[in-house]
Amino acid sequence: MTKEPIIHMKGIRKVYKTRGADLLAVSDVTMDVEDGDFVSLVGPSGCGKSTILKILADLHPHDGGTVHVGSESTPFDPSRDIGMVFQQSLLLKWRRIIDNVLLPAEIIGLPMKESRERARELLSMVGLSGYESHYPYELSGGMQQRASIARALIHDPKLVLMDEPFGALDALTREKMNLEIQRIWEASNKTILFVTHSIQEAVFLGSRCVVLTSGPARMADNFPIELPFPRGLSIKATPEFGAYTKKIYKLLDLDDSAEASAADRA
Ligand code: ADP
Repeated sequence: MTKEPIIHMKGIRKVYKTRGADLLAVSDVTMDVEDGDFVSLVGPSGCGKSTILKILADLHPHDGGTVHVGSESTPFDPSRDIGMVFQQSLLLKWRRIIDNVLLPAEIIGLPMKESRERARELLSMVGLSGYESHYPYELSGGMQQRASIARALIHDPKLVLMDEPFGALDALTREKMNLEIQRIWEASNKTILFVTHSIQEAVFLGSRCVVLTSGPARMADNFPIELPFPRGLSIKATPEFGAYTKKIYKLLDLDDSAEASAADRA
């Protein structure tokens, strides 16, 4: 039985009106995301990945094509059904960590007693028990990003959109966060759309991978990553993992030599 898609995009086009010429950021993107998938959206910087997430979160209008988030008959309410994690944690520096996590619950008016309990559970899930009363400046970059993941989950959204959430972290912290997010995805049964320009990260995390080419964003391919979960970091050394990264390098017109690994590290 095929599952119903939770995201349906067909022929999406987006033009930014700028002071100079109009900029075609997304030219023709078609994809479905199924409930429970972890979809990696990979492509070079500036190819339109963030724009696609913003269209899905209803933060930007699109100029052509059709988008359904949720189902056609019952579309998701972006503030209730979608959680977002950005490249920077964007925590409010004057609020304690738990109060930052509670912010979306306050905004949409969820009962505070239950939400506070859930915030504690989520902070524990992301490894921040004991830091509830700290302020953001007292946490490392990786810890702040984990708090922002807890904040994105506080209202129990069905869909989580992540826009290069680990791009600003050092390599080791980033690998730990990759393990963390995989664990959270498996434990919470959410659908996640994860934007990255790291090919390794895309293969490591995704149950499916969507590859976009240089701007304006066009689909190069959309395929399942059939490596078993849970995945440990050592999977990156396997030929099966290498075959997926090689496939993406090819799609992006890179090869799997020094040039390709330089692009992945960028
Ligand atoms: P990516 O996330 O893949 O790095 P973006 O979606 O952020 O790419 O950007 C795609 C293109 O659209 C880039 O050329 C960028 O400069 C342009 N762009 C993004 N946001 C805006 C905006 N608000 N106004 C004008 N141009 C924009």
